Amino acid sequence: MPDLLSYARARQNEIIALIRELVECESPSDDPAAVARFTELVADRLAGIAKCRVVAGRRFGPHLQCEFRLPGRRKTGQMLALGHSDTVYPAGALASMPFRNQQGRLWGPGVLDMKSGVAFFIYAMRGLIELDLPVARKVLLQLNSDEEVGSESSRSLTEKEARRSAAVLVLEPGTGLEGRLKTARKGIGDYFLTVHGKAAHAGVDFTAGVNAIVELARQIDKVAGFTDLKRGVTVSPGVISGGTRSNVVPAVAGAEIDFRAPRMKDYSALERKFRALKPFDKRCTIELTGGLNRPPMERTRGVVALFEKARKLAREMGVELEESATGGGSDGNFTAALGTPTLDGLGGVGEGAHALHESILIDRIADRTALLAKLVAAI
Ligand SMILES: [Zn+2]
Repeated sequence: MPDLLSYARARQNEIIALIRELVECESPSDDPAAVARFTELVADRLAGIAKCRVVAGRRFGPHLQCEFRLPGRRKTGQMLALGHSDTVYPAGALASMPFRNQQGRLWGPGVLDMKSGVAFFIYAMRGLIELDLPVARKVLLQLNSDEEVGSESSRSLTEKEARRSAAVLVLEPGTGLEGRLKTARKGIGDYFLTVHGKAAHAGVDFTAGVNAIVELARQIDKVAGFTDLKRGVTVSPGVISGGTRSNVVPAVAGAEIDFRAPRMKDYSALERKFRALKPFDKRCTIELTGGLNRPPMERTRGVVALFEKARKLAREMGVELEESATGGGSDGNFTAALGTPTLDGLGGVGEGAHALHESILIDRIADRTALLAKLVAAI
Protein backbone atom coordinates (compact mmCIF):
# COMPACT_ATOMS: atom_id res chain seq x y z
CA MET A 1 0.00 0.00 0.00
CA PRO A 2 1.51 3.34 -1.01
CA ASP A 3 2.53 5.29 2.00
CA LEU A 4 0.04 7.96 3.00
CA LEU A 5 2.34 9.24 5.72
CA SER A 6 5.12 9.92 3.20
CA TYR A 7 2.56 11.63 0.99
CA ALA A 8 1.41 13.90 3.83
CA ARG A 9 4.99 14.69 4.82
CA ALA A 10 5.87 15.61 1.25
CA ARG A 11 2.84 17.94 1.17
CA GLN A 12 3.35 19.46 4.60
CA ASN A 13 4.29 22.91 3.32
CA GLU A 14 1.22 22.96 1.07
CA ILE A 15 -0.97 21.92 4.00
CA ILE A 16 0.51 24.73 6.11
CA ALA A 17 -0.15 27.21 3.28
CA LEU A 18 -3.78 26.06 3.15
CA ILE A 19 -4.16 26.34 6.94
CA ARG A 20 -2.81 29.86 6.68
CA GLU A 21 -5.37 30.76 4.00
CA LEU A 22 -8.20 29.31 6.10
CA VAL A 23 -7.08 31.11 9.27
CA GLU A 24 -6.61 34.42 7.46
CA CYS A 25 -10.16 34.18 6.10
CA GLU A 26 -11.91 35.16 9.34
CA SER A 27 -15.30 33.55 9.98
CA PRO A 28 -17.05 34.62 13.21
CA SER A 29 -20.29 32.74 13.93
CA ASP A 30 -22.29 35.98 13.98
CA ASP A 31 -21.02 37.26 10.62
CA PRO A 32 -22.87 35.36 7.86
CA ALA A 33 -21.07 37.19 5.04
CA ALA A 34 -17.67 36.31 6.46
CA VAL A 35 -18.68 32.67 6.92
CA ALA A 36 -19.94 32.66 3.32
CA ARG A 37 -16.53 33.90 2.12
CA PHE A 38 -14.89 31.08 4.08
CA THR A 39 -17.13 28.40 2.57
CA GLU A 40 -16.43 29.81 -0.91
CA LEU A 41 -12.72 29.54 -0.22
CA VAL A 42 -13.04 25.91 0.86
CA ALA A 43 -15.25 25.06 -2.14
CA ASP A 44 -12.71 26.73 -4.42
CA ARG A 45 -9.84 24.70 -2.95
CA LEU A 46 -11.88 21.53 -3.58
CA ALA A 47 -12.57 22.35 -7.21
CA GLY A 48 -11.90 19.29 -9.35
CA ILE A 49 -11.90 16.79 -6.47
CA ALA A 50 -15.34 17.35 -4.96
CA LYS A 51 -18.78 18.60 -5.85
CA CYS A 52 -19.87 21.26 -3.36
CA ARG A 53 -23.21 22.82 -2.54
CA VAL A 54 -24.29 25.31 0.09
CA VAL A 55 -27.33 25.01 2.32
CA ALA A 56 -28.88 28.21 3.69
CA GLY A 57 -28.17 28.68 7.41
CA ARG A 58 -31.07 31.08 8.08
CA ARG A 59 -29.71 33.85 10.34
CA PHE A 60 -26.25 32.24 10.20
CA GLY A 61 -23.90 31.77 7.26
CA PRO A 62 -24.34 28.94 4.77
CA HIS A 63 -23.49 25.33 5.57
CA LEU A 64 -21.25 23.56 3.06
CA GLN A 65 -21.55 19.99 1.78
CA CYS A 66 -18.88 18.54 -0.51
CA GLU A 67 -19.00 15.08 -2.03
CA PHE A 68 -15.58 13.84 -3.08
CA ARG A 69 -14.69 12.12 -6.34
CA LEU A 70 -12.60 9.28 -4.98
CA PRO A 71 -11.08 6.15 -6.53
CA GLY A 72 -13.00 2.88 -6.23
CA ARG A 73 -15.83 1.60 -8.41
CA ARG A 74 -19.16 0.78 -6.82
CA LYS A 75 -19.69 2.86 -3.70
CA THR A 76 -22.06 1.52 -1.07
CA GLY A 77 -23.33 3.80 1.67
CA GLN A 78 -21.84 6.99 2.96
CA MET A 79 -19.19 8.22 5.35
CA LEU A 80 -19.53 11.67 6.88
CA ALA A 81 -16.65 13.98 7.80
CA LEU A 82 -18.03 16.69 10.04
CA GLY A 83 -16.61 20.10 10.80
CA HIS A 84 -17.55 23.73 11.21
CA SER A 85 -16.52 26.88 9.43
CA ASP A 86 -17.29 29.34 12.21
CA THR A 87 -14.94 30.50 14.97
CA VAL A 88 -15.48 32.22 18.32
CA TYR A 89 -13.25 35.15 17.33
CA PRO A 90 -14.70 38.54 16.33
CA ALA A 91 -13.80 40.06 12.97
CA GLY A 92 -10.41 41.76 13.20
CA ALA A 93 -8.96 39.30 15.72
CA LEU A 94 -6.13 38.66 13.25
CA ALA A 95 -4.75 42.13 14.00
CA SER A 96 -3.85 41.15 17.56
CA MET A 97 -3.20 37.44 16.92
CA PRO A 98 -1.91 37.14 13.33
CA PHE A 99 -1.17 33.77 11.73
CA ARG A 100 2.37 32.76 12.73
CA ASN A 101 4.71 29.84 12.16
CA GLN A 102 6.90 29.87 15.27
CA GLN A 103 8.45 27.50 17.81
CA GLY A 104 7.31 24.44 15.90
CA ARG A 105 3.71 25.57 15.94
CA LEU A 106 1.15 27.38 13.83
CA TRP A 107 -0.71 30.12 15.69
CA GLY A 108 -3.82 32.12 14.95
CA PRO A 109 -7.57 32.44 15.56
CA GLY A 110 -9.32 29.14 14.83
CA VAL A 111 -6.13 27.34 13.82
CA LEU A 112 -6.89 24.51 16.27
CA ASP A 113 -10.69 24.82 16.42
CA MET A 114 -10.95 23.82 13.65
CA LYS A 115 -9.37 25.17 10.50
CA SER A 116 -6.40 22.80 10.60
CA GLY A 117 -8.81 19.85 10.77
CA VAL A 118 -10.50 21.05 7.58
CA ALA A 119 -7.14 21.40 5.82
CA PHE A 120 -6.05 17.92 6.97
CA PHE A 121 -9.20 16.36 5.58
CA ILE A 122 -8.81 18.09 2.22
CA TYR A 123 -5.25 16.77 1.92
CA ALA A 124 -6.29 13.34 3.17
CA MET A 125 -8.71 13.12 0.24
CA ARG A 126 -6.08 14.47 -2.15
CA GLY A 127 -3.77 11.71 -0.94
CA LEU A 128 -6.31 8.98 -1.70
CA ILE A 129 -6.83 10.41 -5.17
CA GLU A 130 -3.18 10.94 -6.02
CA LEU A 131 -2.14 7.50 -4.74
CA ASP A 132 -5.23 5.98 -6.39
CA LEU A 133 -6.41 4.17 -3.27
CA PRO A 134 -9.94 2.81 -3.61
CA VAL A 135 -12.66 3.91 -1.20
CA ALA A 136 -15.74 1.77 -0.57
CA ARG A 137 -18.17 4.53 0.38
CA LYS A 138 -19.35 7.88 -0.79
CA VAL A 139 -17.52 10.50 1.29
CA LEU A 140 -19.27 13.71 2.31
CA LEU A 141 -17.60 16.64 4.09
CA GLN A 142 -20.06 18.90 5.90
CA LEU A 143 -19.00 22.22 7.42
CA ASN A 144 -21.59 23.86 9.66
CA SER A 145 -21.72 27.63 10.10
CA ASP A 146 -23.11 27.78 13.64
CA GLU A 147 -21.36 25.10 15.72
CA GLU A 148 -19.81 27.55 18.17
CA VAL A 149 -23.23 29.01 18.97
CA GLY A 150 -25.22 25.80 19.46
CA SER A 151 -25.83 24.46 15.91
CA GLU A 152 -29.46 25.51 15.87
CA SER A 153 -29.65 25.90 12.09
CA SER A 154 -27.38 22.97 11.13
CA ARG A 155 -28.60 20.30 13.51
CA SER A 156 -31.28 18.78 11.29
CA LEU A 157 -28.88 18.68 8.31
CA THR A 158 -26.22 16.98 10.43
CA GLU A 159 -28.73 14.44 11.70
CA LYS A 160 -30.08 13.72 8.22
CA GLU A 161 -26.60 12.95 6.89
CA ALA A 162 -25.59 11.00 10.01
CA ARG A 163 -28.62 8.71 9.62
CA ARG A 164 -27.47 7.64 6.19
CA SER A 165 -23.79 7.30 7.17
CA ALA A 166 -21.91 4.20 8.31
CA ALA A 167 -19.57 6.33 10.39
CA VAL A 168 -18.88 9.95 11.28
CA LEU A 169 -15.39 11.41 11.61
CA VAL A 170 -15.37 14.72 13.48
CA LEU A 171 -12.55 17.15 12.64
CA GLU A 172 -12.51 18.85 16.05
CA PRO A 173 -9.13 19.18 17.82
CA GLY A 174 -7.73 16.27 19.80
CA THR A 175 -7.39 16.42 23.58
CA GLY A 176 -4.13 17.71 25.05
CA LEU A 177 -0.73 17.93 23.42
CA GLU A 178 -0.89 14.18 22.75
CA GLY A 179 -3.95 14.67 20.56
CA ARG A 180 -6.11 12.03 22.24
CA LEU A 181 -9.24 11.19 20.31
CA LYS A 182 -12.64 11.86 21.84
CA THR A 183 -14.86 8.83 22.39
CA ALA A 184 -17.30 10.40 24.86
CA ARG A 185 -18.77 13.85 25.33
CA LYS A 186 -21.21 14.93 27.97
CA GLY A 187 -24.72 16.02 27.10
CA ILE A 188 -25.17 19.77 27.54
CA GLY A 189 -28.08 22.05 28.22
CA ASP A 190 -29.40 25.09 30.03
CA TYR A 191 -32.32 25.68 32.32
CA PHE A 192 -33.88 29.10 32.76
CA LEU A 193 -35.43 29.47 36.19
CA THR A 194 -37.67 32.48 36.81
CA VAL A 195 -39.15 33.35 40.19
CA HIS A 196 -42.18 35.61 40.51
CA GLY A 197 -42.81 37.36 43.83
CA LYS A 198 -44.53 40.62 44.59
CA ALA A 199 -43.16 44.16 44.48
CA ALA A 200 -43.60 46.55 47.41
CA HIS A 201 -41.88 49.51 49.05
CA ALA A 202 -39.00 48.01 51.02
CA GLY A 203 -39.53 50.44 53.88
CA VAL A 204 -43.16 51.53 53.90
CA ASP A 205 -44.81 48.28 52.93
CA PHE A 206 -42.19 45.56 53.58
CA THR A 207 -44.59 42.82 54.66
CA ALA A 208 -46.76 43.23 51.55
CA GLY A 209 -43.77 42.29 49.35
CA VAL A 210 -42.64 38.83 48.32
CA ASN A 211 -38.91 38.91 47.58
CA ALA A 212 -38.15 37.00 44.37
CA ILE A 213 -34.40 37.34 44.87
CA VAL A 214 -34.48 35.64 48.26
CA GLU A 215 -36.53 32.78 46.80
CA LEU A 216 -34.18 32.50 43.81
CA ALA A 217 -31.15 32.35 46.11
CA ARG A 218 -32.67 29.35 47.91
CA GLN A 219 -33.51 27.66 44.59
CA ILE A 220 -29.96 28.23 43.31
CA ASP A 221 -28.50 26.59 46.39
CA LYS A 222 -30.84 23.65 45.85
CA VAL A 223 -30.12 23.08 42.14
CA ALA A 224 -26.36 23.49 42.63
CA GLY A 225 -26.73 20.50 44.96
CA PHE A 226 -27.86 18.35 42.00
CA THR A 227 -24.18 18.19 40.96
CA ASP A 228 -22.91 14.63 41.27
CA LEU A 229 -19.20 14.57 40.48
CA LYS A 230 -18.99 10.79 40.85
CA ARG A 231 -21.41 10.39 37.95
CA GLY A 232 -19.92 13.33 36.06
CA VAL A 233 -23.10 15.39 36.41
CA THR A 234 -22.52 19.12 36.91
CA VAL A 235 -25.01 21.93 37.50
CA SER A 236 -23.62 25.45 37.32
CA PRO A 237 -25.81 28.55 37.74
CA GLY A 238 -24.00 30.91 35.39
CA VAL A 239 -26.08 34.08 35.06
CA ILE A 240 -28.49 35.68 37.53
CA SER A 241 -30.67 38.74 37.28
CA GLY A 242 -33.42 40.37 39.33
CA GLY A 243 -34.74 43.44 41.00
CA THR A 244 -35.07 47.06 39.97
CA ARG A 245 -33.89 49.31 42.82
CA SER A 246 -32.65 48.49 46.28
CA ASN A 247 -35.66 50.14 47.97
CA VAL A 248 -38.13 47.95 46.07
CA VAL A 249 -38.87 44.37 47.15
CA PRO A 250 -38.10 42.58 43.86
CA ALA A 251 -41.01 40.99 42.01
CA VAL A 252 -38.93 38.98 39.53
CA ALA A 253 -35.56 37.23 39.53
CA GLY A 254 -34.08 34.66 37.18
CA ALA A 255 -31.11 32.41 36.62
CA GLU A 256 -29.52 30.65 33.64
CA ILE A 257 -28.13 27.31 34.70
CA ASP A 258 -25.63 25.23 32.70
CA PHE A 259 -25.70 21.47 33.16
CA ARG A 260 -23.67 18.54 31.80
CA ALA A 261 -24.56 14.85 31.95
CA PRO A 262 -22.46 12.00 30.54
CA ARG A 263 -25.35 9.60 29.99
CA MET A 264 -28.91 10.00 28.80
CA LYS A 265 -30.21 8.35 31.97
CA ASP A 266 -28.33 10.92 34.08
CA TYR A 267 -30.04 13.64 32.10
CA SER A 268 -33.47 12.08 32.65
CA ALA A 269 -32.87 11.96 36.40
CA LEU A 270 -31.73 15.59 36.40
CA GLU A 271 -34.74 16.66 34.34
CA ARG A 272 -37.06 15.02 36.88
CA LYS A 273 -35.37 16.88 39.75
CA PHE A 274 -35.62 20.24 37.99
CA ARG A 275 -39.26 19.70 37.04
CA ALA A 276 -40.09 18.83 40.65
CA LEU A 277 -38.82 22.15 42.04
CA LYS A 278 -41.35 23.82 44.33
CA PRO A 279 -41.22 27.34 45.82
CA PHE A 280 -39.86 27.51 49.37
CA ASP A 281 -42.10 30.53 49.95
CA LYS A 282 -45.61 29.46 48.90
CA ARG A 283 -46.44 33.01 47.83
CA CYS A 284 -43.86 32.75 45.01
CA THR A 285 -44.31 30.98 41.71
CA ILE A 286 -41.48 29.47 39.76
CA GLU A 287 -41.23 28.92 36.05
CA LEU A 288 -38.76 26.58 34.37
CA THR A 289 -37.85 26.45 30.68
CA GLY A 290 -34.95 24.96 28.74
CA GLY A 291 -33.45 21.48 28.81
CA LEU A 292 -31.01 19.40 26.80
CA ASN A 293 -29.33 21.10 23.84
CA ARG A 294 -26.70 18.52 22.82
CA PRO A 295 -27.40 14.92 23.83
CA PRO A 296 -24.50 12.96 25.32
CA MET A 297 -22.06 11.22 22.98
CA GLU A 298 -21.84 7.90 24.79
CA ARG A 299 -18.96 5.48 24.39
CA THR A 300 -20.96 2.80 22.61
CA ARG A 301 -19.60 -0.41 21.12
CA GLY A 302 -19.68 1.22 17.67
CA VAL A 303 -17.61 4.16 18.92
CA VAL A 304 -15.07 1.84 20.55
CA ALA A 305 -14.77 -0.27 17.37
CA LEU A 306 -14.06 2.88 15.36
CA PHE A 307 -11.47 4.02 17.88
CA GLU A 308 -9.77 0.61 17.82
CA LYS A 309 -9.58 0.83 14.04
CA ALA A 310 -7.99 4.27 14.26
CA ARG A 311 -5.56 3.07 16.90
CA LYS A 312 -4.41 0.19 14.72
CA LEU A 313 -3.97 2.45 11.67
CA ALA A 314 -2.02 5.00 13.74
CA ARG A 315 0.21 2.27 15.15
CA GLU A 316 1.26 1.38 11.60
CA MET A 317 2.73 4.89 11.49
CA GLY A 318 4.40 4.57 14.87
CA VAL A 319 1.81 6.76 16.62
CA GLU A 320 0.22 5.54 19.86
CA LEU A 321 -3.32 6.95 20.01
CA GLU A 322 -5.24 7.37 23.23
CA GLU A 323 -8.87 8.21 23.86
CA SER A 324 -10.51 10.79 26.12
CA ALA A 325 -13.86 11.95 27.46
CA THR A 326 -14.80 15.62 27.70
CA GLY A 327 -17.47 17.87 29.18
CA GLY A 328 -17.42 20.03 26.04
CA GLY A 329 -19.83 19.37 23.18
CA SER A 330 -19.53 19.22 19.40
CA ASP A 331 -21.77 18.28 16.50
CA GLY A 332 -20.53 14.73 17.13
CA ASN A 333 -22.96 14.67 20.08
CA PHE A 334 -25.87 14.72 17.62
CA THR A 335 -24.51 12.01 15.32
CA ALA A 336 -23.49 9.66 18.14
CA ALA A 337 -26.88 10.06 19.83
CA LEU A 338 -28.51 8.68 16.67
CA GLY A 339 -26.43 5.53 17.06
CA THR A 340 -24.04 6.25 14.17
CA PRO A 341 -20.50 5.29 15.23
CA THR A 342 -18.72 8.60 15.72
CA LEU A 343 -15.05 9.32 16.31
CA ASP A 344 -14.20 12.84 17.41
CA GLY A 345 -11.04 14.84 17.97
CA LEU A 346 -9.38 13.81 14.70
CA GLY A 347 -8.27 17.35 13.81
CA GLY A 348 -5.30 19.40 14.95
CA VAL A 349 -3.07 18.58 17.90
CA GLY A 350 -2.35 21.64 20.00
CA GLU A 351 -3.73 23.81 22.76
CA GLY A 352 -5.47 27.07 23.57
CA ALA A 353 -8.73 26.65 21.64
CA HIS A 354 -10.78 29.89 21.90
CA ALA A 355 -7.80 31.64 23.55
CA LEU A 356 -4.91 33.93 22.65
CA HIS A 357 -2.41 31.07 22.59
CA GLU A 358 -4.45 28.89 20.21
CA SER A 359 -1.90 26.85 18.26
CA ILE A 360 -1.19 23.47 16.65
CA LEU A 361 1.94 21.33 16.59
CA ILE A 362 3.53 21.26 13.15
CA ASP A 363 5.05 17.82 13.67
CA ARG A 364 1.57 16.28 14.06
CA ILE A 365 0.22 17.60 10.76
CA ALA A 366 1.40 14.67 8.65
CA ASP A 367 0.24 11.79 10.85
CA ARG A 368 -3.20 13.35 11.44
CA THR A 369 -3.68 13.89 7.71
CA ALA A 370 -2.55 10.33 6.93
CA LEU A 371 -4.77 8.89 9.68
CA LEU A 372 -7.87 10.55 8.18
CA ALA A 373 -7.02 9.14 4.75
CA LYS A 374 -6.41 5.65 6.15
CA LEU A 375 -9.68 5.72 8.10
CA VAL A 376 -11.67 6.76 5.04
CA ALA A 377 -10.04 3.95 3.04
CA ALA A 378 -10.72 1.41 5.81
CA ILE A 379 -14.35 2.20 6.64
ZN1 LIG B 1 -14.89 23.24 17.19
